[in-house]
Amino acid sequence: MRFFLLLFFLSSASWAWDHHDWLTEASLRSLSLDEATAVYEPLDSALQRSGTGLSVRDTAGLIRHLKLNSHYVFENRLDENAGRGVFVKSVLAKYSDEPDWGADQDLFEPDQYPELWTSDTPYVSQKSGLGSQGFRHMYFSGKLNWWEPIGSIQIPQYAIGEAPARAQIYWDLSQALKRAGADYWAYRFLAWSLHYVQDLFQPFHSRQTPSKSFIEFRLMWWVIPSIDVEATGDQIAYYHLGYEAWVTRDFEHNPRLGEILEQASLPERAQLPIDVYLIENVVPFAASKASVLADSLVRVLPKPGALSGGKPKDAIGTDAWWKRVRVGEETSSLVETSQGLMEPLGKVTRFFVQSF
Ligand SMILES: [Zn+2]
Repeated sequence: MRFFLLLFFLSSASWAWDHHDWLTEASLRSLSLDEATAVYEPLDSALQRSGTGLSVRDTAGLIRHLKLNSHYVFENRLDENAGRGVFVKSVLAKYSDEPDWGADQDLFEPDQYPELWTSDTPYVSQKSGLGSQGFRHMYFSGKLNWWEPIGSIQIPQYAIGEAPARAQIYWDLSQALKRAGADYWAYRFLAWSLHYVQDLFQPFHSRQTPSKSFIEFRLMWWVIPSIDVEATGDQIAYYHLGYEAWVTRDFEHNPRLGEILEQASLPERAQLPIDVYLIENVVPFAASKASVLADSLVRVLPKPGALSGGKPKDAIGTDAWWKRVRVGEETSSLVETSQGLMEPLGKVTRFFVQSF
């Protein structure tokens, strides 16, 4: 079993949502942070403040401490100027996307942190490129659900993936910077924490095999059915990426998803610490939506076709592909499932910002 699943994730994707900035912006719309600003200062000066309680005092040290790609540069995308204020909501929205900008990629290279690559890593990450950030952005619990014995089966049968731990690490970092009065970087790293929280609401990030209908079999030696690992991986990658493309387009054309995210129903019910909350609540919740999501996607997205020389996922987003994506009545269960994910995603995003 282990042998056949070894290649399982080689073709998987690892962006959960294309636009965390949109999700965060909509989630925070109902909070009265509109006028709040934080004064920008370079990261080095934030780290040199007294009272952070951190052992690292400069950007290079922080990158090593966090095991981020050593070539990563914390690029400013909001026209920040030292000494000038930036809207807190803008910092939270913009930089909730930042963990997808390369800091978590290609970490297994010899000049990075090769020790991060273990025998379990292939089940949650590719080795290089975009997919190599998978292990940081996903979490598979390893718990078998007896109502869905095939969909919930997992290799290995224990928890893999770092997303809850990463959410906690950045929460702690943002608290340390807040204590020292480095508000801009406190909010920027809070935004990083929100990224991992939001990733876990994507069922493809919370369950290794979202639906048994994605498992492809083939006959070995013409008689013994076995899992066709590569074809199964291709199916999962196709629906994973196809779903993200669909959500992004729906977000642009249909105000409903944004409205769902912004709903202001207090009190929110999430709890600290973040990592425990994610593992005990968010992951089982999102994983429980995986098979219904998968079934809806199979109805709405075109069948994954084998492109000559390419992977099924390569067709996603082309005009020809969009023409074959179903619209109208047939999307109702996909819309409903997505709304059912977005509502708690918005609530939990708000809760962690309010608890900050
Ligand atoms: Zn992510």
